[in-house]
Amino acid sequence: MPVEVAEQVAGVVESNPLMSISPLQYQAPQFDQIKNEHFKPALVAGMAEQLQEVDAIANNPEPATFDNTLVALEKTGALLNRASLVFYNLAGSSSNETIRAIQGELAPKMAAHRDDIYLNKALFKRVDALYQQRESLGLDAESLRLLEVYHRDFVMAGAQLNDAQQQQIRDLNEQEATLTNNFRQMLMAQRDETAVVVDSVDELAGLSEGQIAMLKAAADEKGLDGKYLIYITNTTRQPILTNMDNRALRDRVWQASVNRGIAGENATYPLVQQLTALRAEKAKLLGFDTWADYRLAPAMAKTPQAVRDMFSSMVPKVAANVEREAEAIQQMIVAKGETFKLQPWDWAYYANQVRAERFALDESEVKAYFEFKSVLEQGVFFTMNKLFGVTFKPRPDLPVYHEDVLAYEVFDADGSSLAIFYGDYFAREGKRGGAWMSAFVKQSGLLEAKPVIVNVMNIDKAAAGQPTLVSYDHATTMFHELGHGLHGMFSDVKYPSLSGTSVSRDFVEFPSTYQEDWAANPEVLANYARHYKTGEPMPKALLDKVLASRSFNQGYDTMEYMAAALLDMEWHSLAVDSKVEDVAAFEADALAKNGVKLDYVLPRYRSGYFSHAFPGGYSASYYAYMWSEILAADAFAYTQRSGGLNRASGDKFRKHVLSVGNSIDPMETYKAFRGEAPKTAALLERRGLL
Ligand SMILES: [Zn+2]
Repeated sequence: MPVEVAEQVAGVVESNPLMSISPLQYQAPQFDQIKNEHFKPALVAGMAEQLQEVDAIANNPEPATFDNTLVALEKTGALLNRASLVFYNLAGSSSNETIRAIQGELAPKMAAHRDDIYLNKALFKRVDALYQQRESLGLDAESLRLLEVYHRDFVMAGAQLNDAQQQQIRDLNEQEATLTNNFRQMLMAQRDETAVVVDSVDELAGLSEGQIAMLKAAADEKGLDGKYLIYITNTTRQPILTNMDNRALRDRVWQASVNRGIAGENATYPLVQQLTALRAEKAKLLGFDTWADYRLAPAMAKTPQAVRDMFSSMVPKVAANVEREAEAIQQMIVAKGETFKLQPWDWAYYANQVRAERFALDESEVKAYFEFKSVLEQGVFFTMNKLFGVTFKPRPDLPVYHEDVLAYEVFDADGSSLAIFYGDYFAREGKRGGAWMSAFVKQSGLLEAKPVIVNVMNIDKAAAGQPTLVSYDHATTMFHELGHGLHGMFSDVKYPSLSGTSVSRDFVEFPSTYQEDWAANPEVLANYARHYKTGEPMPKALLDKVLASRSFNQGYDTMEYMAAALLDMEWHSLAVDSKVEDVAAFEADALAKNGVKLDYVLPRYRSGYFSHAFPGGYSASYYAYMWSEILAADAFAYTQRSGGLNRASGDKFRKHVLSVGNSIDPMETYKAFRGEAPKTAALLERRGLL
């Protein structure tokens, strides 16, 4: 351990609760004692400690054995894991200036820390020696999988390359970091550049008073007196168009959106070209034909072609639905006394009117049947009890990091204790948007660790004394997140790095999405969807309307997503010597080639502002969301056909999917449960596209 770190640690070791194993049940964090000033020393010391442990393994004079190398590696980093799981969880759900500053400072150090391990030559030599003799080591299946995963991760990081090549990889990584950072900066700068200035309030007809006030405030802030300012949001589709009566303004807003990044001071098109060329070069150095091949090798899909095949099988059905939706919209245009032909900027506006005509849904009438506590306990917990026999017992004695966080102990069907579960469901300052699951402690037989899991959401909490009512969407999200939660809690593997949700990106949303549709199961609904005042069950007609409205516009939604996913895949399937001179032409060609170039449905993201694919972590991986949903729909339909809501269904899903983590190849996991490879028909049905 370097001297300065040792000194820094020595001063705080007594009082820093992150420095030692928590005495609470299952090592649940001592939230009542952890303070901001504890994070950095623990994280810095944790990195130093792990490097020291890794060096000892790499330089062990004994020949490599599975135990003295792989098992030993699995045991390293205890302090870093403990501290970083708490830190990054709170950075998402309870952030503040101090936490953000530590995050910024540590980001490059954490990246370098990973490189220090995965580019360690002596260490790779040991892993590689074991890998070469893997068949003769007498390993059990999970241990063999661990060896294969480690070996692949080392190879993919560049461990096999010579010094000069490794230097090239480091240089390319650095360039990539600079380019992605520039891309992000430009996306932010584009916000001002592309904002649409509106001169008169008359042009804003159709928008609510609240929306207009916001646009006026935005203009005031920029010193545009008497004007209105519309900021473009990140997707191609602009939500504000839904209510905008003025067609010329709709056109202007649409053009501002789809032309982002093409020209001007913040043109991102050159970055798209540079990034894709750089990634192609990096992939080639690492032994892959293209960046997409490199990225998909560890995924369930394995090859870009598998993704193209899966998606292209759905294209005709989806396109036919888009046509039907377009016809209904065109009819609405005519019914409103207009004669023009539907254009992309008209879609949301008239689709909204078709929707209103078909499903006159009063959101507050629906919400009255979804009281938060009832959804959670009589809906979500009830379902998990029916499927798996598990029960959730409140544990108000456990410390939490915010008073709204609920703590439970989860018991298995036989009464044995399984896990700690926190539910952090309400929106508040310092919490990022969206919903997610995470772990404070991951299950591992080797480390004798039981899971400590959290679900986080952003439900608006009612005023004190009032019941919190949620939308049906939020209700399904609560099922979804506990689906991830159980993937963590039912994990029953030996090695921590194969535990729970440590699966590929195109698999991880499968167990969670699978649980969503139980929200509409009649037995489940009858148990939880009751009027918060009268206790009356939800009328069937209202429920049917809620469910039917969910498949509205799904042709468009599905098509715009698939177009973006395939565009991402085409960009990252470029060979190292192919030069793209014209970004727009490449994009048009990529869409046409995949049958997803439609007149009025543009990709959810065009190249110039595709943050997932270019600056974000989803290059060649944007497809993963729908891939997971295909698995979920196919598996859920299978469960409905083979018994539905009962223990046999649940136990089968638990045994083959929820308990195995990444200890088995994901396609094998899927087939073990389902009996065959996934097909797309159930997804099309789920989205109402058949
Ligand atoms: Zn999810």
